[in-house]
Amino acid sequence: MAQHFLLSTQARDLSLMKLFNMSETEAFEYFKAIRWSDTEGVPVCPSCGTCHEPYFISSRKQFRCKHCEHTFSVTSGTIFASHKKPLKVYLIAIALFTNAVKSLSALQLSRDLDVQYKTAWVLSQKIRESLMPTKEEEGVKLEGVCEIDGVYVGNYIRPANNIDDRIDRRKAHKPKKRVVISIRQRADSEFDEVVGAVKTKTFIVKSEESKDIQELVYKNVKQGAELHSDEHQGYDIFHAHYDMKRVNHSKEYKSSEGACNNQSESYNSRFRRMEYGQCHHISNLYLSNYAREIAYREDTRRMSNGAIFRDIFTRCMNTPVSNEFCGYWQGNHRVAERLGA
Ligand SMILES: [Zn+2]
Repeated sequence: MAQHFLLSTQARDLSLMKLFNMSETEAFEYFKAIRWSDTEGVPVCPSCGTCHEPYFISSRKQFRCKHCEHTFSVTSGTIFASHKKPLKVYLIAIALFTNAVKSLSALQLSRDLDVQYKTAWVLSQKIRESLMPTKEEEGVKLEGVCEIDGVYVGNYIRPANNIDDRIDRRKAHKPKKRVVISIRQRADSEFDEVVGAVKTKTFIVKSEESKDIQELVYKNVKQGAELHSDEHQGYDIFHAHYDMKRVNHSKEYKSSEGACNNQSESYNSRFRRMEYGQCHHISNLYLSNYAREIAYREDTRRMSNGAIFRDIFTRCMNTPVSNEFCGYWQGNHRVAERLGA
């Protein structure tokens, strides 16, 4: 039998050892190379956009633009702006995050990096934020064969101690309940090398009813696509726009007509493992980031860890300063959860 991809040597080309042994100068050069990859490592002024060799203030590891005199560092204007830790710490954090296929709790990261919990929390949220779809990725509609399903979060009510005090939890009001809707596009054997799903979009909604999911499905799945879902009534409405295939999970996982949403179930399963096994009590405020993280991990499952590391690092360098995470413990917060499309 052929060896599983993840067991092959090609799947492991990220060496933590190398990162640990990196000098701060090497880390700095690496940051430069990825940050300004378009200009082969030559700094581009984030203020005026001029690209020519700026003055280098070696004591502060900062640059000064010859054109507009703006002073900037290798992380200015990125999600790691105003960084306090040595650059190497950020590389190691991304590497640990890359290898944690069921996500990584801030507490564990703080132990691994020997930094405060607060530092680790913000750092892991910044990495998550960099995984959010870009405007360009957001605009792409899914097509071909797609699957859709929802996974419920925050709807657990602990049963009362005394049996007489227990309520029917199905009918209880659950204000914190949310549904993570995942829509996954299946690989096309003509173009894609992998089997299974290749592109995943995730959304946070308050229920799986059609009123909550209708718009986001129309916005993100091309009309006429083949859409597989389970028997939940919320999906009934889509028969008019899509070639719907329904599978009844109380009977089977794949119907005789080929309907199955196992790729979406696979997403749900990894999400649950993150929630139960790593990041307990995920707040609704940041749920969209966690949902997206799992989608990213699912979609990159067949890439080597070195390739994923470089991709996440590149994304971090291309993600602008966030007023939700830069200065988080000084009072900058996200004020509302990100719901819907
Ligand atoms: Zn400038």
